[in-house]
Amino acid sequence: MEEQKNLYSQLNSQMELNDIQDYIKKVIEIRGFGNQPIEQAMLLLVEEVGELAKAIRKEKTNMCIDKYKINNYDTVEGEIADVFIVLTTVCNLLNINLYDAFYEKEKINIERLWKNNNKDA
Ligand SMILES: [Mg+2]
Repeated sequence: MEEQKNLYSQLNSQMELNDIQDYIKKVIEIRGFGNQPIEQAMLLLVEEVGELAKAIRKEKTNMCIDKYKINNYDTVEGEIADVFIVLTTVCNLLNINLYDAFYEKEKINIERLWKNNNKDA
């Protein structure tokens, strides 16, 4: 617990993505999930994306929700953080640098033409 608190105390909004990815790798190892199989991490990622969808449904839409379970749901912000943590863990398990992957993908994305597929236009 003390090691995690020490790492947490070093977090700040000026950190680079590489530092945050390294922080997540360390705390996930401390929590005992550092060597989890990639299949388990992927299952967890899908689960967290589902929880994010539910949180958005609860907070940002007029869709019906089970009022008896309303206190079981985390906030949108909490679920976004969960998705980010688990996605970063997937990167760590695959030895993928998240910034490098993002940077290389954006190199492709900036050359794409983003357009509505409206056939009437
Ligand atoms: Mg969650």
